[in-house]
Amino acid sequence: MVDTAKFRAILEQRRDELTERLREIDEALDSHQSKDWEELATEREGDEVLERMGSSGKAEIAKIQAALQRMDEGEFGYCVSCGDEIAEERLDVVPHTPFCHNCADKRG
Ligand SMILES: [Zn+2]
Repeated sequence: MVDTAKFRAILEQRRDELTERLREIDEALDSHQSKDWEELATEREGDEVLERMGSSGKAEIAKIQAALQRMDEGEFGYCVSCGDEIAEERLDVVPHTPFCHNCADKRG
């Protein structure tokens, strides 16, 4: 049986960090609206990096929300694919994972 309270704290903290980072990314992107062209060209590359960071952050938040929901349903720590318990060492590394080691391997 996994210590859900421990992982809830980890997941909530991670979600808050990501939410904060996404807010900063949005602000950085917004602040690039009224610049001259030369500056814009340089910033455009930076913006693409920011946008990539933003979308990977959003994807991670979605996985964290799903993990918190499984927690509310008492299913956290069990593989959504085969139903086996997920090893705690694995959750320590990827707390939001919905898959046990075997199923994650199968998915590549
Ligand atoms: Zn599994």
